[in-house]
Amino acid sequence: MSVNLSTREIEELLEGSDDRWLFEEARRVKAAVFGKDVYFRGVVEFSNYCAEDCYYCGLRAGNRNLYRYRLTKEEILETAEMGYLCGLKTIVLQSGDDHFYKKDDITFIIREILSRMDVVITLSLGERSLEEIKEWRKAGAERYLLKIETFNKALYEKYRPGRKLEERIRLLEYMKGVGYETGSGIIVGLPGQTVKDIAADLHRLSELELEMIAVGPFIPHPETPLGLESPGNPLLSLRCIAVLRILNPLANIPSTSALASFGMDFRAKGLEAGANVVMPSITPSKVRLFYKIYPGKNEGCMCVIEEMDYLKKMVENAGHRVSDSKGYSPRRFYAKGS
Ligand code: SF4
Repeated sequence: MSVNLSTREIEELLEGSDDRWLFEEARRVKAAVFGKDVYFRGVVEFSNYCAEDCYYCGLRAGNRNLYRYRLTKEEILETAEMGYLCGLKTIVLQSGDDHFYKKDDITFIIREILSRMDVVITLSLGERSLEEIKEWRKAGAERYLLKIETFNKALYEKYRPGRKLEERIRLLEYMKGVGYETGSGIIVGLPGQTVKDIAADLHRLSELELEMIAVGPFIPHPETPLGLESPGNPLLSLRCIAVLRILNPLANIPSTSALASFGMDFRAKGLEAGANVVMPSITPSKVRLFYKIYPGKNEGCMCVIEEMDYLKKMVENAGHRVSDSKGYSPRRFYAKGS
């Protein structure tokens, strides 16, 4: 069903060799699998503390100019409930690498959400122990997002000090093994990253047979070591989405908020390029602004209900419709042969 592209062919497409074919083929593949459906995922950014020091991220531990917050368990549950009442069928629990919340805390939150709401839970909690990851799957979480950011080992280990690329890949494989719908992704336009690197990354991401794949442009944050670097190219990010869609017809691919920070219409362009998922932040407004991975993230004065309305209209104006399903990746079912 999917078209095979060599790394060289991907590289040429990323350089703009045939945008017309690329975007038309991506649209065709997406329509064949998902029709006009777009899945919404509500993201609860419950802590902006992080023990890591990634060079590209405003939440890095070394950023002392950020107000840090943690939501209580009850606040997390109330936020998830509010998202559910707004019609969301997936709740994403996201934080920096913050080990303040222990295994049992997250287990409690997962169980409580599932006892109160008919939703799917996605975890995006960074690198946690195998025991924790397995335990949370048993508690009912069905998806885990862990972005790789770059498969270029030298860049990875430069920009994620003290971390090893192979360990991150092993964790992703472990998540798949214990039954999560597993998601990962890359940043496009990191300083030192070439188009060849990005082409190789898209190939590697596709080989992992993930259920969710995300690409977003690099946006320099002034309070990081990469603060004075140039941002990534949003058109290149759109081409990456289209290539990923062609290589991964059954995967869920978001039109990311990083892309949207280049202009309101970029989220719709992401959908036109082959994305089928939108992930609004539903974090309480009193702290939303402080989950600032990059400048522009979570800015604006809309409350969650207004933002959901705005995004629904954007989806409809782009010729799509918001699905009321839980939005599982068809890849999961094909893999099981059912
Ligand atoms: S990218 Fe993730 S792990 Fe790295 S500093 Fe940001 S929140 Fe922490």
